[in-house]
Amino acid sequence: MFDNLSDKLDKAFHILKGHGKITEVNVAETLKEVRRALLDADVNFKIAKDFTTRVKEKALGQDVLTTLQPGQLLVKLVKDELTELMGGDVAGVNLSGNPTVILMSGLQGSGKTTFSGKLANYLLNKKNKKPLLVACDIYRPAAIQQLYVVGDSIGVEVYSEPENKNPVEIAQNAIKHAKENGFNVVIVDTAGRLAVDTEMMDEISRVHKAIQPQETLFVVDAMTGQDAVNTAKAFNDILNFDGVILTKLDGDTRGGAALSIKSVVNKPIKFVGTGEKMEAIDVFYPIRMAERILG
Ligand code: GDP
Repeated sequence: MFDNLSDKLDKAFHILKGHGKITEVNVAETLKEVRRALLDADVNFKIAKDFTTRVKEKALGQDVLTTLQPGQLLVKLVKDELTELMGGDVAGVNLSGNPTVILMSGLQGSGKTTFSGKLANYLLNKKNKKPLLVACDIYRPAAIQQLYVVGDSIGVEVYSEPENKNPVEIAQNAIKHAKENGFNVVIVDTAGRLAVDTEMMDEISRVHKAIQPQETLFVVDAMTGQDAVNTAKAFNDILNFDGVILTKLDGDTRGGAALSIKSVVNKPIKFVGTGEKMEAIDVFYPIRMAERILG
């Protein structure tokens, strides 16, 4: 994960090694390489520039050159800044509702259905919850079927109304069903399309208003880089979602989405998907990710 970025940052810090005394020029050179590494990882230009500016200011503020181990201090400043860039604190999910309603949003193929199953499995086994999965895709019968396969594999009930073409009604009926049958979390999987369009946005916005979820999560494929950031912006403008789920982090992603999304939509990454299996879900810890990137 993010191997290329790790390598490049490692090389950037090599500039500081082997120097008896570190100068401002060495620091500037290092930060230039850090910026280049971020750009190569598909981080947006302004975010990368602001990043190194902030690190530089902190380095000057802390008199980095006069410290005993300026190289190590600079690595620490970059690590802190990376952590901050990815969200600072761990966000977690709000499970305060009774039932807690969680709405999934995102494009088709982003991993919504898979993640709905992973989250249900996580809440069932790690948080002692009784989740209900809801199929709200009225366009693709295969999508409903897929949710049943997922639900079966983890032993979680799936609610659907294959004849009903009104996703708002389906979601509302599902919540009623949950209340009557002792489910304390309702995970609503919605229809996505291949690109952002007004019909999809209108639909999810209507569902969102009608069911007023405690958590609206935006699911996005980390492999799509800058597109992931643009899609996030479009969905956030409509839904003002609560958190981001980055899927397919097990693939050969350069990291741009993970590093940029928080500063563009100002919403935390809450979980990451790291594989196709139901267990391949991790709570996102910005600090751990920053430590991993810096090796
Ligand atoms: P949806 O259309 O948004 O519901 O997306 P799906 O849940 O159907 O996922 C699309 C494809 O991505 C499927 O083949 C999933 O198995 C795969 N997928 C989902 N999440 C991950 C992940 O974290 N890692 C990998 N490698 N594949 C994933």
